[in-house]
Amino acid sequence: MTATTLPSTDWDAFVTALDGIEVIRDAVQVAKLSRDYYTYSPILQTLLSDKVGDLVVRPVNEAEVLKVAKACVQFKVPLTIRGAGTGNYGQCVPLKGGVILDLTRMQTVKWVKPGLACVEPGVKLVNLDKQTREMGWEIRMAPSTYRTATVGGFIGGGSGGIGSITYGQLRDRGNLHAVRVVTMEDEPRVIELRGDDVQKVNHAYGTNGIITELEIPLGPAYPWAELIVTFPDFMTAARFGQVLGDSDGIIKKLICICASPISNYFAALRSSIPTDSHCALLMIAEPCLEPFGELVREFGGTICYQKSAQEASKGVAIAEFSWNHTTLHARSVDPTLTYLQTLFPYDPDLKLLEHMYHHFGDEVMMHLEFIRVSSCVVPAALQIVRFSTPERLQEIIRYHEDSGAFIANPHTYILEDGGRKTIDPVQLQFKEMVDPYGLLNPGKMKAWEQSH
Ligand code: FAD
Repeated sequence: MTATTLPSTDWDAFVTALDGIEVIRDAVQVAKLSRDYYTYSPILQTLLSDKVGDLVVRPVNEAEVLKVAKACVQFKVPLTIRGAGTGNYGQCVPLKGGVILDLTRMQTVKWVKPGLACVEPGVKLVNLDKQTREMGWEIRMAPSTYRTATVGGFIGGGSGGIGSITYGQLRDRGNLHAVRVVTMEDEPRVIELRGDDVQKVNHAYGTNGIITELEIPLGPAYPWAELIVTFPDFMTAARFGQVLGDSDGIIKKLICICASPISNYFAALRSSIPTDSHCALLMIAEPCLEPFGELVREFGGTICYQKSAQEASKGVAIAEFSWNHTTLHARSVDPTLTYLQTLFPYDPDLKLLEHMYHHFGDEVMMHLEFIRVSSCVVPAALQIVRFSTPERLQEIIRYHEDSGAFIANPHTYILEDGGRKTIDPVQLQFKEMVDPYGLLNPGKMKAWEQSH
């Protein structure tokens, strides 16, 4: 059964039990910290807009997290963990009220050594990257929200991003080394998970443990040039993306391909990209620009924007037009737009992609992010969709699935109904041990809801 905050909860006594840990009770602030970016989905807007926590608690270290966990278990109140709240599927929206555990004050980078960093969960990705780059290393991958998102939130709710063209996704073995997790037992404790055991809590929406420390692998830092290349038609742009992805000798961090008219939504780039272009947004290691230029020529592309790594460190960042920032810019012009998340099967000829592009035309505008999946380069798509009705959206999803494309549905807050599709017995088993009362982010893990 899903844990729900009882109307009889004595919140004054609860706060007293916290013994001085920072608490926010102001209704406006609590409502603000109960939201994330679920508003990109018209389906989730309807389901989540009235969901709100009872109060927000802001611990500064693991010892305080243990105290909060103990109080929540004692008072049997739900606890929903929050990083920066940039998740897209209502991941940190409290469905059953209770405590919002805001971890943004836990910002210590504990150590950095070649190839590995150890951090508290509230460290912003951008700050970790800045620190590791001073030693010649960088975070392997980041969401386009890297300037605000936290490391804990990326592991709890993210999947991959800028850098995934080289390193794959967060779920791939080796992309998360170790975590410390606080449990919600009668006597909360800290468990350390290393190696494959990290999958027990990786991308679990904070339903089965509070991550209080993470060991994150790093990659060698490159000076990244930022470029935009236009192509005469979309499929040439897409094929260029595939070949660039497959070009092992050209080091890259981002291959984002946008069909026309998507780039028309990029207000800050309007003077750089000709109207109605099919274009590629790219981050290329500076030493590789010469062979890269040859590839562009081979595909008949035109470079319309180029910044050196040094220039790119200031002003507009191309990464902030990629991944789900593409949707953000489109929605800032037309808020009725929504999106899909699709993984196309490996096929260097891109046949299914080409079919979908022509089949849906302007209703499903093609936006690709090339990523590495099991050592093959494939297009992941975050298509921008002209929303009409929930039924039509479902029809579009079904058509993709029936044709062999994988949809990670961004219109559900249920963990298993998004990208995973199946119940994860390892995560369920771990939840049964560490959260026996089902207090962590209740209502999100289907496996638990169905079996309790
Ligand atoms: P939150 O939203 O606060 O939390 C995310 C989930 O993790 C929640 O379920 C929360 O309960 C859980 N959680 C948070 N901290 C912990 C913890 N310490 N222990 C256990 N669970 C925890 N995502 C991508 O993967 N790639 C992208 O490129 C990308 N681009 C985006 C672009 C835009 C414009 C937007 C709005 C979102 C995008 N996202 C993307 C989604 C989101 O920004 C990222 O997943 C981000 O890393 C989440 O970090 P956060 O700190 O905001 O986490």
